Amino acid sequence: MQYKDLNPDFLEKFEAYDDHECVRRFETPEGVVGFVAVHNTNLGPAVGGCRMHAYASEEEALTDVLRLSRGMTYKNAVADLPLGGGKTVIIGNPYEADKKPIMQTVGQVVDSLEGQYITAEDSGTSEEDMVIVAQQTPYVTGLPPEKIEGSDYGELGGNPSPLTALGCYEGIKAAVAHRYKGERQLSDLTVAVQGIGAVGLELCKLLKQDGVKLIITDVSQDGLKRAQDILGDHVEIVAPDVIYEVQADIFAPCALGGVLNDETIERLKVDIIAGASNNQLLKEHHDQMLFEKNILYVPDYVINAGGIVCAGYELFRRSGVNSGHFELDRRSMVAHVERTGQAVTRILKMSKDKGIPPGAAADLLAEEKFLESKPANDTASDTTSEDPPSYCAAGGTTMVH
Ligand code: NAD
Repeated sequence: MQYKDLNPDFLEKFEAYDDHECVRRFETPEGVVGFVAVHNTNLGPAVGGCRMHAYASEEEALTDVLRLSRGMTYKNAVADLPLGGGKTVIIGNPYEADKKPIMQTVGQVVDSLEGQYITAEDSGTSEEDMVIVAQQTPYVTGLPPEKIEGSDYGELGGNPSPLTALGCYEGIKAAVAHRYKGERQLSDLTVAVQGIGAVGLELCKLLKQDGVKLIITDVSQDGLKRAQDILGDHVEIVAPDVIYEVQADIFAPCALGGVLNDETIERLKVDIIAGASNNQLLKEHHDQMLFEKNILYVPDYVINAGGIVCAGYELFRRSGVNSGHFELDRRSMVAHVERTGQAVTRILKMSKDKGIPPGAAADLLAEEKFLESKPANDTASDTTSEDPPSYCAAGGTTMVH
């Protein structure tokens, strides 16, 4: 395995570069290239997933890792987690590659950062891949509960999607209260859900309990059939491209990024956009465009933070480092996710008061939190030791085999 840190002079050429603390290029013995970027660790160690994608070039992959790692700093800050932002990207087709040696290399590179960055699964990688990473480094979270050595950690590990859906549901309720000022209830509303995968289907189940009328779409016919079996006659199914122009009150993107763009924004008839997908805005100016069209956009990284809250709680419990002083049990974790509604309310109010789009308001709130915070080594330890907090295997229980 080879790696080198990229020089800030070189990184300055990338628009997505934002004085990242460290950007490391690595190469596996087989020649697969990837990058780890640590954006900011003022609030705590950087946490963010490991993405594998068939990028067209190293420049494209580097742009993505710079953008995504910065996004994680903002997401973790608004979610009130004592964590910074980082990300890994690997250039390659996740369905064709021999993942084992790649994941071993990822584990070694992550380990070389000595806890400055903690990785997790992301698109193109799986829990099983993280088990391979964990054979090389303790700095990994989001492991399958049964793979974590030690006592009863199961209540905090595992699939985060139902909790991401719960956070979205709370965020939707907050957005509805803000937009309609109590004059309309969820039971009066129609929600158009794009993508009924792990998060989208769970969100539909929660909304259905409130009597919401659902319009759903997916590119998977099997997925649609399964959803209809579960949701019953309550749903209307439309073709994937039609979802942008259905008569609904809320659009919930739960499939892809970049779905809010010049073309789709013109077609949308909804009052509110609130869903789980990452990077919904194709470009930053689409935040302003939605604001001017009086469509209330709930920033994606605020409403979909349930997954990172799960990963964070698992990490705090396994490491023994709990600078947020959280009760590290499932009930508290769920309550933390439910506070997504409060975060959404705060951001929408801030947007209204300052006359700025919600995405800009969320960024401002995040910056207030992480720019004004001292580096974690000064503040974050819960221990009495003078050593900085260690996310390494406290009590020897973190590594999986
Ligand atoms: P998933 O893969 O389980 O589901 C995505 C669904 O979207 C699939 O059913 C897929 O067939 C469908 N889809 C793909 N292209 C589509 C298209 N053009 N039109 C309609 N449907 C399409 O993924 P997920 O875990 O449910 O995540 C959904 C989104 O939420 C992703 O953007 C993900 O990054 C984001 N997210 C997920 C979590 C989590 O906990 N799973 C956390 C934060 C953010």
